[in-house]
Amino acid sequence: MARSDHKPRLGVWKFASCDGCQLTLLDCEDELLQVAGAVDIAYFPEAARGSGRGTYDLSLVEGSITTLHDAERIQDVRRRSRTLVTIGACATAGGIQALRNFADIDDFMAAVYAHPEYIETLSTSTPIADHVPVDFELRGCPISKQQLLEVVSAYLCGRRPVTPAHSVCLDCKLRGNVCVMVAHGTPCLGPMTHSGCNALCPSYNRGCYGCYGPKENPNAPALSERLDQLGMGRAERLRFYRTFNAWAGPFREESERHGP
Ligand code: SF4
Ligand code: SF4
Repeated sequence: MARSDHKPRLGVWKFASCDGCQLTLLDCEDELLQVAGAVDIAYFPEAARGSGRGTYDLSLVEGSITTLHDAERIQDVRRRSRTLVTIGACATAGGIQALRNFADIDDFMAAVYAHPEYIETLSTSTPIADHVPVDFELRGCPISKQQLLEVVSAYLCGRRPVTPAHSVCLDCKLRGNVCVMVAHGTPCLGPMTHSGCNALCPSYNRGCYGCYGPKENPNAPALSERLDQLGMGRAERLRFYRTFNAWAGPFREESERHGP
């Protein structure tokens, strides 16, 4: 909870990621001025110079842990953060780079780098919560601007953020969309995917591919049965579950059920 005698110090930290979730904070535009007025943005490499020294009332952490150095650095960030919130698919589920977790990292390095002997990396990409205690996880690739503002405002008010736990399907219904899976037989991960985008893809007659990660209590086997009925083979189903949130529990487990 924020102390009343000073502006809370905000730190925005980057680990293995594309910076997209940090950009969501910059994309807040008008609201960012209000956020900047309410907090002391003490460290935010995407937006300003800063040493990263000192302690932080609120740390927003983007990115996954893919190197030994970062595994050590996140311990330091945690020690110096009163509240630590992870933002985005990389930080909450290992990101698309977690696809390495299903294969041999040496094979990838040999395929990509002329001199892989100079590369130092872990064989896995893992979420921040696998390394340190996390106070709140905000999903999405990238995160939703509205949900991010809710997290920051909730922190400033000393309450728990309220972000919906329901699936993309409910947002689809609220928008009055015709279900692309029922009406057109288009594979859609909406039934398993966390709300946050206002059902963007089905609103344009496309299936969801799960960038907001797993909703609470998804029924993955039921969805797989439907995909099977739509003619999607095992190998295709495996790939269907392995995108931005491949290492998130329900997506990972269901993909492994369709593995070789
Ligand atoms: S289109 Fe997808 S998200 Fe929308 S209701 Fe159908 S299954 Fe759910
Ligand atoms: S892929 Fe799914 S979660 Fe991502 S924007 Fe499209 S509908 Fe939303």
